[in-house]
Amino acid sequence: MSSRKPPFDTDIATHTAEAMALPQMVCRRRGCRRRRRCRRYFTATGEPCCLSNLDPAQRAIFDRIYLAAHLAKHFLGSDSDMFETKRGPQRLLDDLAIAIARNVQNRWFRAGWDTARRAREKRMAAADRLACED
Ligand SMILES: [Zn+2]
Repeated sequence: MSSRKPPFDTDIATHTAEAMALPQMVCRRRGCRRRRRCRRYFTATGEPCCLSNLDPAQRAIFDRIYLAAHLAKHFLGSDSDMFETKRGPQRLLDDLAIAIARNVQNRWFRAGWDTARRAREKRMAAADRLACED
């Protein structure tokens, strides 16, 4: 059995980097900082070049958000209980991941994905209202 990782999704990685303001904060290329988007990536890996400027702790945070966005792209609306956490850090990560995945091209079953996203927003808003009443 192969231990190779699945191919890196450059589109998700680029949008994750944008959500974290990496082009403005860590990219050494002026063009990236001005456009607020890193368009350069390593052809061998598909990783945005900005990522090479992160220290290990920053990279770990990027990887966690990237993975969550990757899961959101592929699994939101798949009848699982993923993305149903109502509070706390996991809720924030889910919200961010879905916001990133929403901007990605070629989402899985786009119309169904958007329907699932809107339904989740209503459930989360209802949960937030209940939390305020407590
Ligand atoms: Zn860059």
